[in-house]
Amino acid sequence: MGRALLSLSAMLFLGVGLGMTLRHGLDSLWTLGLVATLAWLLVLMARWQVRMVAEPLGQLLSEARPMAIEDLPGAWTALEQENSDLRERAAREDHLLRSMMTRLEEGVLLFGASSALESFNPAAQRLLGLGAPLATGMSPLEVFQDAESPVAIQRAYLGVPAEWRLERASRVLRLRAIPFAPSGSTTGVLLTLDDITRQEALETTRQKFISNVSHELKTPVTVIRIAAENLLDERLSEAGQASAQALLRSVDRLALLLGDVSELSRIESGALRLVPEPVDLAGFLASFREDFEARYAASGIQLALQGAFPEGTGVVVDPLRLSQILENLVSNAVKFSPPGGTVGVAVTVAGQRMQWAVSDEGPGIPAAEQGRIFERFYRAAGAKAKPGTGLGLAIVKHLCRLMGGEVTVESRPGEGACFRVTLPLLPVQPSEGPPSR
Ligand code: ADP
Repeated sequence: MGRALLSLSAMLFLGVGLGMTLRHGLDSLWTLGLVATLAWLLVLMARWQVRMVAEPLGQLLSEARPMAIEDLPGAWTALEQENSDLRERAAREDHLLRSMMTRLEEGVLLFGASSALESFNPAAQRLLGLGAPLATGMSPLEVFQDAESPVAIQRAYLGVPAEWRLERASRVLRLRAIPFAPSGSTTGVLLTLDDITRQEALETTRQKFISNVSHELKTPVTVIRIAAENLLDERLSEAGQASAQALLRSVDRLALLLGDVSELSRIESGALRLVPEPVDLAGFLASFREDFEARYAASGIQLALQGAFPEGTGVVVDPLRLSQILENLVSNAVKFSPPGGTVGVAVTVAGQRMQWAVSDEGPGIPAAEQGRIFERFYRAAGAKAKPGTGLGLAIVKHLCRLMGGEVTVESRPGEGACFRVTLPLLPVQPSEGPPSR
């Protein structure tokens, strides 16, 4: 209030002073008074401005300081609590993981980013043999002491899961390696070990049993066949003739089944050895056409043979087994073709692969059955009326695997089927030229 009165009187003094100066001219005393008043007013205004900024700032500071200080102990306690909760949870999870790993029947090993063993469970040590103690930091070669495992583990580091078997301490183990990528990129490889000794022993017994039974049955079946043929040569009544014919048909089916069963068991048991040799593709196709025409001339089914490969192309393959694969696929294609239909056989050689495609114009295979037709004895519902053992495609699948390749099928019901066999090309040895057939 006092300052306002003073300011008002200073302004009045300034106004009167200015008026007097204009009327009577510049007087040094008046001028001095005017300058002093002006300076005083400026100081007043400056102080007023500073107060406008300082007051809210002071208020802010005076409010903030007590609040932060008051809250600090509470916030600190909450932080400590949260920290101890987290530590407790981590310890609980660690304990859970350890007890799970300890109780697991399967062996588990983790290799870290530098291909060194980071952790393993007791089952892994038990399965790999107590005589070779595991220790963190070991390399895959030190852990497994074989040539195959480090290669498979290296592949898993590159993102390709792998599965292989290992014989160790009179046990057969199945190893599976999967890329370990908890945060996106692969930082390790996780390995599981299963003891498949018993499974393998059972499988070997099954295969031996089937192989022995089919072998033992071959001779009596041949004897029955000869007897049936002799009967047909006899003067028999009509009914006798019909019975002898039926006997011959059944014996033929049985002989076919026995042949397929023993062939499959030979492939599955590893008894069948491939004999790869250089083969001239053009010559192979020419004899393939001859065989087809000799065998299926009566069926009226046409063969459309195509080969897309440079002239004189030689490949290294077991010709007998390749013919067996094609014969199985082609006999199915002919069997399911409509009268007068065409069976297509096309071969392409590109890069490191050779592909054979066998197609037909038959009824095709429903999508739901396509995954099952390669199983032993599986015959699609629509095929029961046709002759067959249900073993042909299983033989094809196993032969393809044995040759390092695969067989796939594409089909739409009503639009035929196309089976594709893809085989790797083995390198032709420089000394071996394609044979002239
Ligand atoms: P099968 O002796 O019965 O022919 P395969 O193992 O060769 O035995 O074939 C299994 C089943 O796959 C056949 O019974 C049939 O249902 C189906 N199949 C195979 N090839 C063809 C084809 N070209 N067209 C239609 N179905 C097929």
